[in-house]
Amino acid sequence: MATPMVEDKLVLESAETNPFEAMMARFDRAAKLLNLNPDLYAVMRVPNRELKVYIPVRMDSGRIQVFEGYRVQHNFARGPAKGGIRYSPDVTIEEVRALAAWMTWKCAVVNVPFGGAKGGVVCDPWQMSQGELERMTRRYASELIDIIGPEKDVPAPDMNTNEQTMAWIMDTYSMHARHTVNAVVTGKPVDLGGSKGRREATGRGILFVVNEAIKRFKMTPPTTRVVVQGSGNVGGIGAQLMHEAGYKVIAISDVYGGIHSPDGIDIPAALEHLKATRSFEEFPGVESVSNSELLELECDVLVPAATENQIRSDNAERIKCKVLAEGANGPTTAAADAILHRKGIFVIPDILANAGGVTVSYFEWVQDRMGYFWKEDVVNERLQDIMVASFNDLVKYADTHNVDTRTAAYMLAIDRVAYDTRMRGIYA
Ligand code: GLU
Repeated sequence: MATPMVEDKLVLESAETNPFEAMMARFDRAAKLLNLNPDLYAVMRVPNRELKVYIPVRMDSGRIQVFEGYRVQHNFARGPAKGGIRYSPDVTIEEVRALAAWMTWKCAVVNVPFGGAKGGVVCDPWQMSQGELERMTRRYASELIDIIGPEKDVPAPDMNTNEQTMAWIMDTYSMHARHTVNAVVTGKPVDLGGSKGRREATGRGILFVVNEAIKRFKMTPPTTRVVVQGSGNVGGIGAQLMHEAGYKVIAISDVYGGIHSPDGIDIPAALEHLKATRSFEEFPGVESVSNSELLELECDVLVPAATENQIRSDNAERIKCKVLAEGANGPTTAAADAILHRKGIFVIPDILANAGGVTVSYFEWVQDRMGYFWKEDVVNERLQDIMVASFNDLVKYADTHNVDTRTAAYMLAIDRVAYDTRMRGIYA
């Protein structure tokens, strides 16, 4: 099954944990293999626009604190820019720039008519009250008003943001527009124009592509041992759906650590325990593992669904799965790619594996613009059609071009964006 991969010495020597370099290393390799026209290369390798804002917020103490926020709009060739907003003390403009580019390639891989964007605010949401979060979100949204909108750029939830955050952004935007504009964001509460199935969409998308991948190994869910890193919107829901589909989920974690049982974990009970106690500790009948030990467990499917740079050149050799389904954005460094490839691990790259979220975001945007809302079954069925077709397109592309699946995903995406850019022409 292993196919030759183009080794790029530069990839291995690059600063391994810089997500923008990780993205560019893959972009450059794919562009070279595609023989991308130099003018298109020059335009596509950089973002279209980057906005940095300073956000004053009246804290509960009565004092003003100023937060730094970003919105990077990477590409508009295929439609409005699209991508989440994350709140974290570690957010940097470089990370947001990489995540924005990943959105462009992700939307192209699943062929939804969006470009890519991403936003971030440097803050510690765990230390902030709901009131402080609301005021920060509204002021950040008001700073973005000129560049977001249903036809321009449509934000969504990402790390540490949720339906409530989207409702505040939608309301702030709508107050300034003087009428309700629900298509300005996706991932809203269902009652405010959100889509049924959006919250579960990223996890459900992972389930659909894993279902396809295990067929290549002649495995079925009951005989497939799954390890999930993360228990949030992607990992938690993904694990739950895989458990319901009959998979044997043998390990799961949150930021502090994880639990492991070779016989399989009762995932609904474990998530209940996590919700009630805010920790997996003391969950009965399992052994504790650290997040790095969890990644190295013997399993069939590994789903890193937490954060970037989890699989690197220093631990990739010890990864023991058959299928790596990347739930997070950028969980594998570019330097680790070659090692996984050599080990014969079948990688479902992030820009496909976690694209279920943006796919249902697209459905949400369509429903908002129609003012007509679909049943959950319709949403899930259409999501399945797109994920399965995109998986098959990707595998076929990899086979035809004799490249690994990661390279194939970038090539496929870049080729689609390049075609549209060429047809539109460069306004230069
Ligand atoms: N934040 C999610 C992602 O990284 C979803 C983005 C969206 O729905 O626009 O794919």
